[in-house]
Amino acid sequence: MPTDDHPPPTSLDPEDWDSFRALGHRLVDSLIDDWRRARDRPTWRPVLDAVRAELADAAAPWHGQGLDAALADFDRLVRPYPTGNTSPRFLGWVHGSGTPQGAYADLLASALNANLGGREHAPNHVERQVIAWFREVFGLPATTSGLLVSGTSMATVLALGAARHRATRGAVAEQGLTNLGACLVGYASAEAHACAAKAFQLLGLGRAALRPVPVDDAFRIRPDRLEAMLADDRAAGLTPFCLVATAGSVNTGAFDDIPALADLAGREGLWLHVDGAFGALVTLTESLRHLARGIERADSLAFDFHKWLHVPYDAGCVLIRDGELHRAAFALPADYLRRETRGLAAGDPWFCDFGIELSRGFRALKVWLAVKEHGLARLGRAIEANCALARHLADRVAATPGLELLAPVSLNIACFRLAPEGLSAEAADRLNADVVADLHESGIAAPSTTRVRGRLAIRVCVCNHRTTAADMDAVLDGVLRLGRERLEARGGGTA
Ligand SMILES: *Cc1c(COP(=O)(O)O)cnc(C)c1O
Repeated sequence: MPTDDHPPPTSLDPEDWDSFRALGHRLVDSLIDDWRRARDRPTWRPVLDAVRAELADAAAPWHGQGLDAALADFDRLVRPYPTGNTSPRFLGWVHGSGTPQGAYADLLASALNANLGGREHAPNHVERQVIAWFREVFGLPATTSGLLVSGTSMATVLALGAARHRATRGAVAEQGLTNLGACLVGYASAEAHACAAKAFQLLGLGRAALRPVPVDDAFRIRPDRLEAMLADDRAAGLTPFCLVATAGSVNTGAFDDIPALADLAGREGLWLHVDGAFGALVTLTESLRHLARGIERADSLAFDFHKWLHVPYDAGCVLIRDGELHRAAFALPADYLRRETRGLAAGDPWFCDFGIELSRGFRALKVWLAVKEHGLARLGRAIEANCALARHLADRVAATPGLELLAPVSLNIACFRLAPEGLSAEAADRLNADVVADLHESGIAAPSTTRVRGRLAIRVCVCNHRTTAADMDAVLDGVLRLGRERLEARGGGTA
């Protein structure tokens, strides 16, 4: 019989616990050095060709090289070339910046190696507590159920899956949409994130069944246009079933008028889903929570912990007002998943009844620890500070000749561009895209680009608790200098 001192030769545990302990201490020390220097490194650096080639080698190793050598490869091939979102100058897309404490939480979660698909153990209760906290934060009723998922994209699939379940009185689960002959259509802002269209695609509704509703000057859904579209679709024999409101759009941070859309959804019998990926978290602030008013009336809400709460990737959440319906939409009994009232097989309901995944990691721990460590109010203050920085940048843009602000700053996103006189629209688009790539490659900063009313924008999204006003100034100065250099190289114009 193998004992503690004599593990079987097939055990994958470390052979020498003392050297494993020493390696662990060295590893943590080197991480702490990295974290403390987060500000000193280039925001991003290109992956070297040789590194990319080595990582493209498809020959899987049949013989191991040992942990020390494998970690040395990590230090050489991976560690120098991350996304960059731990840097205070990472300002692209919507990326949370993480925390060192979150890395400890991930280590603890991996060490327990809990499976939160079901059964009776404390990690499930931690996830239930996290869900209950945020149900309360968003003012949703006690009937609300929830699930931690990889992110808002997955949360949207589940939420709209529940909406589809309600619209077909559950028949879709067994029979499928084709057999039902259901022609379900839904509505979202023309500015909505593509995850809603992807969910429509995946749920068998088809992307064309998600109608983009025109927006007003502040990039909010126009309810009058929505009502006209609903009438047209009903006249054509289609069945409108859901409305997706956006709380914080990815392009400009715009909030739809959720109370007005909730009224409309109520009148029209539509499921109201709110995409609040990052924007819903303004609910944690004093000064901005009015933007998210009406979320408490949603049938479902999708949001992320890995963006504006800076929990390490990945962690998002879906909340569904009608918990019974949520469970009915996804539960599927199986002999090998039998529930008991005692022992490890107790703990009903299991999280696997509320989504697609059976095996599930302990994502909840990093959220639970972050909320317990900082408290919601402090996390909210970091959000407020980000929005103040976006306004600071917008003020500077407005005061600088040769720069143009492309959208009002309602949240944490500033879209602007170099607008030198005498350049065609295409040439100006090219210039701004080139300047953003220059900023990336120089390591100065990492904004991203998007299009606002058809024009290419330099998009600065402050979703980063490390960023300061000096970082905003550095981005702006970098844009001006790199733009000037490019224009001088083409031999004309001033930025
Ligand atoms: C990021 C984002 C999503 C997608 O969320 P993931 O967590 O990346 O899946 C959806 N909607 C909005 C508004 C977003 O910003």
